[in-house]
Amino acid sequence: MTEDPATQRYALPPHAWPPPAPVPAPPRRGSRVLRAFVVLVAVVGLVAGGWWLRTGDPLPVPQARPAVTADAAPRTVPSPGVEESDEPLGAPPAAPDSDVYAFVAKQEDGTTPVAWDPCRPVAVVLSPDGAPADAEPLLVDALARMTEVTGLQFRYEGLTDELPGGDRAAYQPDRYGDRWAPVLVGWRTPEQEPALAGDVAGLGGSASAGPEGGPLAWVTGSVTLDGPEYAELAAGGDAAVGRAILLHELGHVVGLAHVWDSDQLMASTTSGEVLDFADGDLAGLAQLGAGVCIPEL
Ligand SMILES: [Zn+2]
Repeated sequence: MTEDPATQRYALPPHAWPPPAPVPAPPRRGSRVLRAFVVLVAVVGLVAGGWWLRTGDPLPVPQARPAVTADAAPRTVPSPGVEESDEPLGAPPAAPDSDVYAFVAKQEDGTTPVAWDPCRPVAVVLSPDGAPADAEPLLVDALARMTEVTGLQFRYEGLTDELPGGDRAAYQPDRYGDRWAPVLVGWRTPEQEPALAGDVAGLGGSASAGPEGGPLAWVTGSVTLDGPEYAELAAGGDAAVGRAILLHELGHVVGLAHVWDSDQLMASTTSGEVLDFADGDLAGLAQLGAGVCIPEL
């Protein structure tokens, strides 16, 4: 199973889409950027695939955040264990028997995927700026699906004034309080987010953190979708495709990378007929819902 590049493009609908191009062996991003109180790895810029995929074009990777080195220093990470329960809040469903999935990142053992901490909810906020009229129900529906397929408890928290894009801080206490910043979902134009230029329909990914010497977990993430392209989909009666794009991107947020099986929603290329997670996707998602709880985070 090949690792996906940490950055990929999700291109939209071309009326004549290009044939699948082989993905060059991706450079694996270092999984440990900073060894101190907390390790943070930015994996921003993952993008959905589908029949619109293009690969390459790495996006800027936010700098690892400095460690807390002195009591007097302002916190650059939240207090540990915010909302952490003693046990996972949910359990992944029984998964199909499939190995057609790939993970964005793995732990030091080389096999266990980096996943979200299942002992706390995955908070999600929506940027309404430029979002389609049905963005909220679309997102709520997609998050319910993500909870269903992972067992992770996605919690939609409403609207935010934060705009997608740029070097997003994983900890924004002034906006979100003493916790990791919620996953941010929003729509932008290619003018506002140059990474959406061309036939790219979305960007998505997560950032991980972990205690010194311990496992990593995804702690925040983002999905940035192409507003004009969504408008075209809606006008063309292809709302289901818009939902599929969002699910695919959220698949990246929880830690799935692309696969080459076009029957999977996480495929790099597809005929366009796959509108929901398929067996391989579901098998990977179930593993991603069974991550380790990290109260130190
Ligand atoms: Zn993708």
